[in-house]
Amino acid sequence: MSQTAGLLSGARQLPSPNVDERPPEEAVTLAVLHAISLPPEEFGGDAVERFFTNCLDCNAHQYFAQLRELRVSSHLFIRRDGEVIQFAPFDARAWHAGVSRWRGRERCNDFSVGIELEGSDQQPFSDAQYQRLASCLAELVARLPIADIAGHADIAPGRKTDPGPHFDWSRLQRELAAHLGQARAAALLAARRACA
Ligand SMILES: [Zn+2]
Repeated sequence: MSQTAGLLSGARQLPSPNVDERPPEEAVTLAVLHAISLPPEEFGGDAVERFFTNCLDCNAHQYFAQLRELRVSSHLFIRRDGEVIQFAPFDARAWHAGVSRWRGRERCNDFSVGIELEGSDQQPFSDAQYQRLASCLAELVARLPIADIAGHADIAPGRKTDPGPHFDWSRLQRELAAHLGQARAAALLAARRACA
């Protein structure tokens, strides 16, 4: 994949240093959905993009102190208004999954794309987010051999809860079906449904 091919059309590019190379010949077969807000439950600020680029002032909020040593990133971040920020090209390995397992394979960062939604376990996601997420996923599955879409909670059960109880997987499937057709949308979410 060329470098340009690793970038999403229409995304604001904000490269993170918290990325490295995928294992040689590794195919990207999984999309992992997350939710994040910093501080928790607060939307609209720039703390997430600062966090993913190691520019967060950890003294700016009490909650940020626990983030000081963390080095993380995702490929994409979808804001409440549908804006997309890309921190890593898809051919690079972003650091979003942590200790994780999917279909018997560990280290999901090796073979996944990470998509963060600006959100939390407490609040519904926005219409703009579902629509933009579906269009991003449609573009991704056209370019990469992605077979499954799952949540962080599905690949790290007991440790992670995101994208959380307010994420509407049925709605995502409907939005995806508008791009990919019913059968393809259902197939991408089938393994997750089976393990949930
Ligand atoms: Zn997560």
